[in-house]
Amino acid sequence: MALEQFNKAADLINLEDDIRQILSVPQREVHVALPVKMDNGKVKVFVGYRVQHNNARGPFKGGIRYHPNVSIDEVKALAMWMTWKTAVVDIPLGGAKGGIAVDPKALSQGELERLTRRYAYAISKFIGPYEDVPAPDVYTGPQHMAWIMDTYSALTGHLEPSVITGKPVETYGSLGRNDSTSRGVAITVAEAARRLNLKTNQLTVAIQGFGNVGSNAALIMAKEYGMKIVAVSDSKGGIYVKSGINVDKALEVKEKTGSVVNYEGAQKISNEELLTLDVDVLIPAALEQVITDRNAGSIKAKIISEGANGPTTPEADRILYEKGTLVVPDILANSGGVTVSYFEWVQNLERRQWTLEEVNAELDKKIRKAFNDVYDTSKQLKVDMRTAALTLAVKRVSDAIRIRGIWP
Ligand code: GLU
Repeated sequence: MALEQFNKAADLINLEDDIRQILSVPQREVHVALPVKMDNGKVKVFVGYRVQHNNARGPFKGGIRYHPNVSIDEVKALAMWMTWKTAVVDIPLGGAKGGIAVDPKALSQGELERLTRRYAYAISKFIGPYEDVPAPDVYTGPQHMAWIMDTYSALTGHLEPSVITGKPVETYGSLGRNDSTSRGVAITVAEAARRLNLKTNQLTVAIQGFGNVGSNAALIMAKEYGMKIVAVSDSKGGIYVKSGINVDKALEVKEKTGSVVNYEGAQKISNEELLTLDVDVLIPAALEQVITDRNAGSIKAKIISEGANGPTTPEADRILYEKGTLVVPDILANSGGVTVSYFEWVQNLERRQWTLEEVNAELDKKIRKAFNDVYDTSKQLKVDMRTAALTLAVKRVSDAIRIRGIWP
């Protein structure tokens, strides 16, 4: 999928073969075996990866995910998407991704800490404030980032907060980082509505996934933009309430019972049904490849903003474009996270903390500008938003490679 999307954009800008070859493969792939002492006294070996796709515009950047399905191919695709993401939103960073094949829900807190520190140690030679700056991704969060910062600092002999972003605010994290991905998603929906002449406070929204991205998007869209969240879901299933879901209550239910499906007075729906509901806005904020040629034809939303990475297959993209659905692609829609990661990195390097107002105002500016650049490009080139975003990104990265030159 990642290569198909890249080649489409490369064709559109007549990208020369030299640079096409360079960008088709990651610059470096690190595979690590991670022995961890489990609580039962036995050792278990996990497999982890760090893939660094491109650093022509700045240090590699991208999250670390913990999921049973993590594979080298998935991490390679996600690393390439990070290169485009940092370029679309125009921050001076490259693209990377890391992951461990593990079900983190099956591990104790102690096991998770030992696994995370061992992974940090195993990749420590390849990361650094000016080399590669990791961050959270699926099923990792501020605590994992704090452990990685601590391990890296222990290994280098001095505190090095700028080696990783998405840290807890108490220890060099940025204000506003935690809900920044969701805030970016909400901003892209508001901009899309503005360009389509729809009233933001009249939009109905369905959100697939109620993790960090989905749940915060629900909160921000409902409370700050007055949108009506009618459906949400998590890995156990979904709920639909025509008159609107009380997001605070849904969060409470998820916290107490482990899933939103226990929300009272809602109609239970499946994750698949959620995608084709009669709503104005659809936010896929779970995992990859959920919108496919099988369901794209039945999607009724006018705007899709991709909170997750890679939720739409290329075949589904074609169907949605022909139908006139405005798809805000992942590399733009969820770029708020890496944008505030960049702000966090800058704050860390300067040993200075921005206020929440400063963070959110800068984020707003960045995402709005990126959205409108991509929207205008899509109209000019008469292509979908994904191709437009990729075209912009591939051009920026290729220009950097061409101007810097190939050494030796
Ligand atoms: N994992 C997030 C993403 O896919 C954030 C990356 C970062 O902040 O570096 O964009």
